[in-house]
Amino acid sequence: MNNDNNIRKGKPTIEPIVIPEDKKQKLDKVLNYKHTSHSQKERAIKQIVGGFCCLCENPPTQILKYKLEDATLIERYCDKCIEKVK
Ligand SMILES: [Zn+2]
Repeated sequence: MNNDNNIRKGKPTIEPIVIPEDKKQKLDKVLNYKHTSHSQKERAIKQIVGGFCCLCENPPTQILKYKLEDATLIERYCDKCIEKVK
């Protein structure tokens, strides 16, 4: 029997998330505009970065890739949270 909690993930590779400058500016604008609603921020982060940091709701800046036997597991982290998992 496999226990999902004990999957051996091995050592991940860390890659920076590269966002084109125009999209980055668009995201900054959405996030910093005080009238932007929470759901609008969520949508912008999903659209532009692809998802959220695993540990908080900030836009992620780094991707961790774990090679599993038949798949690659991807986790996204922001600058702050990446320090906790490195
Ligand atoms: Zn985070």
